[in-house]
Amino acid sequence: MHIVCCIKQVPDTAQVKIDPETNTLIRYGVESICNPYDLVAAEASVQLAEKYGGKVTVITMGPPQAESALRDCLALGAREAILLSDRAFAGADTLATSYCLSSAISKISSAEPVDLVLCGKQAIDGDTAQTGPGVATRLGYNQLTYVSRIENVDVGEGIIVVTREVEGGAQVVESQLPALLTIELQYARPRYASLPELVRALRQEILVWGAADIGAQPFRLGLKGSPTMVKEIFAPKVHRGGLVFDSAGGQAVEDFLDKLFEKEQALFNAE
Ligand SMILES: Cc1cc2nc3c(=O)[nH]c(=O)nc-3n(C[C@H](O)[C@H](O)[C@H](O)COP(=O)(O)OP(=O)(O)OC[C@H]3O[C@@H](n4cnc5c(N)ncnc54)[C@H](O)[C@@H]3O)c2cc1C
Repeated sequence: MHIVCCIKQVPDTAQVKIDPETNTLIRYGVESICNPYDLVAAEASVQLAEKYGGKVTVITMGPPQAESALRDCLALGAREAILLSDRAFAGADTLATSYCLSSAISKISSAEPVDLVLCGKQAIDGDTAQTGPGVATRLGYNQLTYVSRIENVDVGEGIIVVTREVEGGAQVVESQLPALLTIELQYARPRYASLPELVRALRQEILVWGAADIGAQPFRLGLKGSPTMVKEIFAPKVHRGGLVFDSAGGQAVEDFLDKLFEKEQALFNAE
């Protein structure tokens, strides 16, 4: 089984800063990490390869430094890593990103057919959860989103059964391969990489592909291929926290009840 796992490097901060001119994230001076959902997707991919046989190829579209996120996934047990990096990719919205990724996966699949593509449920910076479904649509793969468990894969029959998280419960779905899955955080806890795997990950050559390598149409890439117009981005206002009843003097419960009755009385008086 050949599994491609799409990963994204994201800023390691909850305090994202926005460039007011371009309405894009300021990434300079902020540490980068592999998107936590994608580490789980990489762990899920490696577990699948271990259980059913096969190999995992990790892929990312990003600047040259995104290589370190690929190495994190190689250390988990992925066998190959591909960095899609080209100035033509810069400024991509989710449409252009998914076009670029799907073009690369088509190329990978023409050399070694792909059975499964795994993505994280969402990236913690952009947060749209659109990229996975966009890639599946362009590849013509079945898409299974919000997957919390893979029940079974029958590679011979080309069938996968998964559990999806849906509002108010869970849904068990059977689908034909090839399929694209987006993976929930609770799927697995990424393993600690062993020393030999860390060394292999550091030494392994990473393929770098540009626009010409994936046969992409230039007008569908980067800013040119991005119809999204960002009007404004802002951090939500922080509202004042609730009241704190300090238990130090042993009065917390009484103080809380006094406040409650006070409010109730105020409501009663207002009627
Ligand atoms: C007008 C515009 C300009 C932008 N310019 C830039 C820019 O210059 N630089 C920049 O970094 N971002 C830019 N962005 C943000 C960029 O479009 C998104 O980061 C990207 O499309 C992914 O969307 P997301 O972060 O919401 O990921 P989601 O859709 O939430 O991600 C879901 C999953 O898709 C996969 N995935 C997402 N992105 C990638 C990737 N790059 N490689 C591999 N797998 C991936 C991962 O598995 C991830 O867990 C821009 C956005 C807009 C609207």
